[in-house]
Amino acid sequence: MASPKEHLRDWLRDAHAMEQQAISMMTAQVERLETYPELRAAIARHLEETRSQADRLAECLTLLGDDTSTLKDLTGRLVAFGQGLTGMMVEDEAVKGALASYAFEHMEIGAYRVNVAAAEAAGEATIARVLEQIMKEEMAMADWLYEHLPRITAEFVSRDAVDAPAKR
Ligand code: MG
Ligand code: FE
Repeated sequence: MASPKEHLRDWLRDAHAMEQQAISMMTAQVERLETYPELRAAIARHLEETRSQADRLAECLTLLGDDTSTLKDLTGRLVAFGQGLTGMMVEDEAVKGALASYAFEHMEIGAYRVNVAAAEAAGEATIARVLEQIMKEEMAMADWLYEHLPRITAEFVSRDAVDAPAKR
């Protein structure tokens, strides 16, 4: 068995690892995107927001009395999901990347939904509010991608039809 606070600490650490992975993915996307300036700018904005999310998670862990010096940094965080995206060299890279980002944002929304409930169960109202704010940021990014996926796709298709740069 484990106490509610112990579960919260473990899940906050998982969320921190998830954000590190998000930083790896988005850093690669911002570096590679060339012909989709709107998408590139949206990802660059969310990348900065994500760095702040990781910092806020570390602060929540400190509030719980956790030792944040053992949180893994970016090195070696390129696991499963991130690898599929950061190593992406496919012909429709921009579209696949936007799609992968849309899926990733939803994983984040789910994770924060769980973590808010875990914080409330542990009686940590302050932490719950921080996590709710982060969840809203993930929802805003998911909404942006939902709204823009059709335009990104249409742009890719029309560019590729005339052999203009379309891939990234
Ligand atoms: Mg995030
Ligand atoms: Fe996100």
